[in-house]
Amino acid sequence: MKIRIHRGATEIGGSCVEVEASGLRILIDAGLPLSSQEGVPPVLPDVDPETLCGIVISHPHLDHYGLLPWMPLAPVLMGAAARRIVQAASPFMPQRPVNLAGTDLVNRQPIHIGPFCITPFLVDHSAYDAYALLIEANGKRLFYSGDFRAHGRKHALVDKLISSPPPHIDALLLEGTTLGRMDMEGIPSSEDDLEDEFVRVFQETEGLALIHASGQNIDRLVTIYRACLITGRTLVIDIYTALILEATGNPHIPQSQWDQIALCIPQGQRIQIKKNGWFDALDRHSGRRIYPKKHLAKKPGDYALIFRGLWMNDLERAECLDGACLIHSQWEGYLNEPRFKDIDTWRQRHGMTFHYAHTSGHACPAKLKRFANALSPKILVPIHSAVLENFDSIYPNVVRHADGEWWEA
Ligand SMILES: [Zn+2]
Repeated sequence: MKIRIHRGATEIGGSCVEVEASGLRILIDAGLPLSSQEGVPPVLPDVDPETLCGIVISHPHLDHYGLLPWMPLAPVLMGAAARRIVQAASPFMPQRPVNLAGTDLVNRQPIHIGPFCITPFLVDHSAYDAYALLIEANGKRLFYSGDFRAHGRKHALVDKLISSPPPHIDALLLEGTTLGRMDMEGIPSSEDDLEDEFVRVFQETEGLALIHASGQNIDRLVTIYRACLITGRTLVIDIYTALILEATGNPHIPQSQWDQIALCIPQGQRIQIKKNGWFDALDRHSGRRIYPKKHLAKKPGDYALIFRGLWMNDLERAECLDGACLIHSQWEGYLNEPRFKDIDTWRQRHGMTFHYAHTSGHACPAKLKRFANALSPKILVPIHSAVLENFDSIYPNVVRHADGEWWEA
């Protein structure tokens, strides 16, 4: 089995790994680099389309699937819910539409494709329906961690992998996002800790609570909804978030029709709905529709709204921001980006308080160490990390391979 990391050996994002056996190949992830810019075509991995059996997408984050629109046609293997989420999000994204036809990944069910046997393991991550992957071919066993954590709502999945790991791993491709961002002893907050924090902020805020969180971070939306139930606020979602929640296909995940959830549509999305004729989607989710001026402005303290930049004008026009707060519930590094700075200027102009309530989608260094030692691979190859030297402190046999370099498992 031959392997080469096309991208991701020395950076977070843009992950793409090629695995070759018996002259055939698969790709694991086809991610858009985080540094990529809108309108600039990305650099594509140089892969022989004739012998490409499939592209396996570990989870629905753009830095793992965003290259798909440019890739050669091949079956796309990913979780069924992940596939629905990418489809639901696609019309809201600037990228071109994606071809996603292919076999569904199902937790711990092996799939045979060419000379490869691929066994997906459902993991805990900030993306829904995320998998680590065991790839077997010609007697060799490669384990790809994908992105994972063990402090979210699905931590038991990762605990199980650590307590009964797949044996005889030749090479482990391990993500290391938190290496260099957190120290070895750092313990990340759990989603339950965050729930307490949201409850505290909701209770001390008189006006509207705006939460700047990703509509695709389903764990986080559950956390915020639970805090709403405790504090008597109604969770306000837009049509994008309503469609993503629906795409999970999971009856235990909050939906637009649930108690204490309301749909409210900013002007920018009303234009999109009209232009694209999404009237069925609007009908499906409008059972509990509310309006900024009629509802949010009357009793702003009754609501917690999942916020994004396009809301700024609507909320300003509705004059519903007295006593409001903004809770940043994403990676703090984003706060330095221009679009977040604009939001912060807007927040200050309206005298809103600022709060930070977030926990990473990635395992802390101590958990990475436990994970690596449980799987006990012959070699550990770093991926999805900016600080490669820190891998040496979590595992004895680390072998670094550069982007584009072929190596054997
Ligand atoms: Zn991810």
